[in-house]
Amino acid sequence: MKVCKFGGSSVANADQIRKVKKIVESDPQRRVVVVSAPGKRHKEDEKITDMLYTCDALSRKGESIKETFGIIRQRFLEIASELQVAGSLKDSLDEIEQKIAAGAGPDYAASRGEYLSALMIAEFLGAQFVDAQEVVRLTDDGRVDESSYPLVTERLRGEGVKVMPGFYGATVNGELKTFSRGGSDISGAIAARGAMAEVYENWTDVSGILMADPRIVDDPKPIKEISYAEIREMASIGANVFHEEAIAPVKSIGVPINVKNTNDPSAPGTFIVLNRDSVKDPIVGVSGKKPYRKVLIEKFMLNRYPDFPGQVLKLLRSKGLSVDFELKGFDTLTLFVAEDQEISWEQLSEELKRELGADDCRVGSEVAMIGVVGEGLTSNSHITGAAMRALEELEIHVEGLNYGGSPITMLIAVPLRKYQEALKALAKTVAQV
Ligand code: ASP
Repeated sequence: MKVCKFGGSSVANADQIRKVKKIVESDPQRRVVVVSAPGKRHKEDEKITDMLYTCDALSRKGESIKETFGIIRQRFLEIASELQVAGSLKDSLDEIEQKIAAGAGPDYAASRGEYLSALMIAEFLGAQFVDAQEVVRLTDDGRVDESSYPLVTERLRGEGVKVMPGFYGATVNGELKTFSRGGSDISGAIAARGAMAEVYENWTDVSGILMADPRIVDDPKPIKEISYAEIREMASIGANVFHEEAIAPVKSIGVPINVKNTNDPSAPGTFIVLNRDSVKDPIVGVSGKKPYRKVLIEKFMLNRYPDFPGQVLKLLRSKGLSVDFELKGFDTLTLFVAEDQEISWEQLSEELKRELGADDCRVGSEVAMIGVVGEGLTSNSHITGAAMRALEELEIHVEGLNYGGSPITMLIAVPLRKYQEALKALAKTVAQV
């Protein structure tokens, strides 16, 4: 059997939901459907989930939610009446509005988008609704609790199609709780693992995961196959591909994930698998993250002070700074610090000298970090050369290079102002290797 998760754009209006029905009915193996809340219908539109969070914020300030909830109500009723399933929704909408206004809290409020979406779609498909609160278990810090799997196995067994809302479940004490944003991917993965699906289909609005960010690179190709490890690295270096936490449930039993396009169901999409042939396609893609500040810390005979790097990182962490990448030399430590807040570098470098005995601390320029990702990276030495040549031709100075730190990702730091140019050049280069 197959578990299919449909994202926000796939359930954004009645037309999209009709496509969902067609997809589900075209394959009898598609027996479990996990849905998001209606997402954006166009660029300026608002997601139902965002509006529900707004309602919660208004209610906590003691303000009326009538207007904002009215838009949510209208949107659901419009879709439901087009699909001719409006009857059951009215009472639920009244109850939800009342509870949010009475201070039910952000998890309850946000989860109702998925809840209503699943109720409506279950009725439209003539399927059984399974409430995620009864089967999906979260830890107190919002991660997947292992006790979900046997519950899911039990409830998703049997004939007929079942529809489950994504994004939420309950803590082991039965309290309703949501995952982090985009968490319906995780719900789909839990369902796929619990139901021992042959494939976990993740339906979106693109024909698979792209080799590079289409907002920067013209017409990047979809990736045919990518390993679980590669997708993790792509996500870590900034690609907005798939919820990171959605990999673990399916990876442990090797269920492949197939990312597909609701608007073009016959396109093969991307398969996320345990192992792939990296001889034919050594690199899967490029991705980038920014801005970072390059900071070089000097300590004579650094090797004699094995605790020094850890102490530096601890100090930075205590100030809310995160160091995503580091390079260690004989007497130097180069850190790439995520620059997502105001930082007094002068004060910090004084502190590093005074508290930790650093000899010097040089605060360098702003950089972007680009990752070239693929399991065939280290067995194809020409890729590094080709990447460096591509940057050299554009006179883009390499501010840092981490090759071999991970067997599947090469990290290249480039000046921030050259980020887009470098990403384009690297995407073009890896598409040719
Ligand atoms: N609706 C939720 C969000 O917007 C969860 C999801 O769609 O995956 O984050």
